[in-house]
Amino acid sequence: MTTAIRQPVLFVGHGSPMNAIERNRWSEAFRALGATLGKPRAVLAVSAHWFVPGSWVTAQAAPATIHDFGGFPAELHAVRYPARGDPALAAAIAGESAGRIRTTTDWGLDHGSWSVLRHLFPAADVPVVQLSIDRRATPAQHARLGAALAPLRDEGVLILGSGNIVHNLAHAFHAWRAGETATPDWAAGFDAALAEGLRSDDRVAAVVAALERPDAGLAHPTPEHFLPLIYAAAASDAGDDVDFPVEGFDMGSLSMRSVRFRPRA
Ligand code: ZN
Repeated sequence: MTTAIRQPVLFVGHGSPMNAIERNRWSEAFRALGATLGKPRAVLAVSAHWFVPGSWVTAQAAPATIHDFGGFPAELHAVRYPARGDPALAAAIAGESAGRIRTTTDWGLDHGSWSVLRHLFPAADVPVVQLSIDRRATPAQHARLGAALAPLRDEGVLILGSGNIVHNLAHAFHAWRAGETATPDWAAGFDAALAEGLRSDDRVAAVVAALERPDAGLAHPTPEHFLPLIYAAAASDAGDDVDFPVEGFDMGSLSMRSVRFRPRA
């Protein structure tokens, strides 16, 4: 019997789907982060782009690459991320969830996952299962589910949340069309507050409370890009080291801050 290496937990700010194919500041940073990860047994990805009623985990042996966007170049639509699934892991996650998580074959890997995984694990040689975000659940309920996933880290599973710490696409596109590249105060303020909260002794409470902040409506007109951070923080351990392997804003207000929780050396 082999002993699995306790895995880190990551939250990655994915930004534009174009980061999947462009060589830019963000994709280079994802590559550099990937080079630190070794080869986990599997990845459990929690993507902002699977925001549905219920918690579902993908159970196919070969999950499809889902192009859940429109209006991008054919080159992006042609991307396939051929990582295997892990039906046994999906079944185990569902089985240990006291009925809260169910398996499905109706989804696959959406761009929240593959646009980042393609850089973290370019060889696509680590199996991936994806977990949906239950749109009916409260932040505290998401945190409880994320905490329940934490033991998977000791079984060699890397838990990956993919969203953005500040994500107001309407604002970002408006500013982009107007040629405004400065980061607005509300975006910088929300991002900085979360960085501080993530470094605090009670990071889970900080992320659970974040959507109650007065600036949350601007930072997140809808919550789905924030919620994967709750899963990641909740799956982390109080003793983990926390750092930010990627920081900065794309399109002015889109926070690309990524968070790594790893066992203290
Ligand atoms: Zn997104």
